[in-house]
Amino acid sequence: MARKVVYPPLQRARFGGTLLVRLIRARYGEQPSWRLDTDRNHAFLERMQALYRAPYHPLAVLLRLGGWTVEKLRASLAEEGLERTLGNLARDGVWLDADEVKCRKPLVRNGREIPFLPTDLDNVCGPSVPLGTSGTSGPRTKNPLDISGFELQASYKRAMLAALGALDLPLVLYYPAPSAAGIAQLIAFALAGKAPDAWFCHLPEAQSSAMRWSVWLRVLAAAATVAGVRLPLPRLAEVEQPETLLDWLCRQAPQGAVVTTFAGSALRLQAYAERRRRPLPNLVFILGGEPITARKRALLESRGHRVYPWYGAVDAGRIAIGCLNPQVADDMHLLSDRFACIEWQGRLLLTSLLPSVHKRYLNTDCGDLGTLERRRCGCPLDELGLEFHLSDVRSVQKLCLEGVTFPADLVHRLADELLPESCGGAPSDYQLLEEEGDDGWTRLVVRVAPEIVVPADKVIETVHQVLLEASGDAPALALRIKQSGVVTVRRQRPCFSRGGKLLARERVSLGTDDPRGG
Ligand SMILES: [Zn+2]
Repeated sequence: MARKVVYPPLQRARFGGTLLVRLIRARYGEQPSWRLDTDRNHAFLERMQALYRAPYHPLAVLLRLGGWTVEKLRASLAEEGLERTLGNLARDGVWLDADEVKCRKPLVRNGREIPFLPTDLDNVCGPSVPLGTSGTSGPRTKNPLDISGFELQASYKRAMLAALGALDLPLVLYYPAPSAAGIAQLIAFALAGKAPDAWFCHLPEAQSSAMRWSVWLRVLAAAATVAGVRLPLPRLAEVEQPETLLDWLCRQAPQGAVVTTFAGSALRLQAYAERRRRPLPNLVFILGGEPITARKRALLESRGHRVYPWYGAVDAGRIAIGCLNPQVADDMHLLSDRFACIEWQGRLLLTSLLPSVHKRYLNTDCGDLGTLERRRCGCPLDELGLEFHLSDVRSVQKLCLEGVTFPADLVHRLADELLPESCGGAPSDYQLLEEEGDDGWTRLVVRVAPEIVVPADKVIETVHQVLLEASGDAPALALRIKQSGVVTVRRQRPCFSRGGKLLARERVSLGTDDPRGG
């Protein structure tokens, strides 16, 4: 069932041509309003029927081994509804945990190993482009996205900006690297008829793994310009000194702007503007990529900005967008037109409902934890019919630093093997913690037992070296983590009681600790 996807220049050209037509239509045509399909049961059943027609697809095998026929599904949907049916399916083994999705462990049910590749979950029809994986977790996947997938990513954006009252504000993208994910964001906003006004990156394009996209992007942007659609190209705004971005905002957007970025980058921009004594206009920060904590939110709001969380993944696309009547810092509405979501054994499992979702998910664990509830909040997104709220979203599978994602097993290996090897001592002498300081910035703290005699610099260098090796074809991102000094050392006995494991990630105040750990 998984179609073999090839990406020769011809494929990219076909994709570019189709995209250009859609961009022009989005620029000059009437924007379709975002309609939610209210019959989610029907949508789900259709997806399942497509699976049953491909009996060797791993998900179809899971359904069969779990004893689920179309008739049984239909009866369960009618009787118990979608979410309870998904829970019943998970109970019968019809779900994929994050390690199975990434092929870190075999897919075994009823004692039988089911052949599975990450590409089995790809779902594209027309010309597509590969987005690649965001981080370093598991085998690299191409994540192809076709035009209908891009349009799905565009579909909610106008409604979201309108609900925020920000449809007429300039729009700025600010991300670590000019990556394929950034290009996807650029295109999705343009397809929504709201092409970004500027695009800033922490890294110069020459250091980005997306260099191979550079020519394609320029050709597309040039063709779009001729057709009257302006697509901005990435410009440098270093994370420590985002002077170009600050200058752009002060000059081009004195009445305010929407900035989509990570929470850490927003805080750094604010801090830089204060150091330069050049006040930022009031901004609407659309933030994702790392947990939006109460502290981060409050720090930005206290400076007059608005904070709007959203949650997505390269693999899945956008999953949830912020509530405008939030009960907690990251209160978000599940995009329930495209996904159903249940909590299962503490994980969030996603199921795709629309054929245009570029992943064929059935109770698929994306490696995140969160709180899911069905609640009416009365905000404009609730009125559109988005009834499910997601909050307290955090990852168990990865470490998020400065917008870069590292898998948990790397963190384990670092504390268990690599640090003792290069700095002395035993695994029990080291522990890694993800901490949020009073300034709202997230740091990676390495706890080192006090009796280990090793300079802090050596510990930090070891961590940087491992992150660099793990970052594959995006070494510049690991270098930026190094520059930004988010890895710190603390001379303190590791405490394994709470987390049990080495990756005991705590969120506490850094207090007055010397950031270099002395
Ligand atoms: Zn709401």
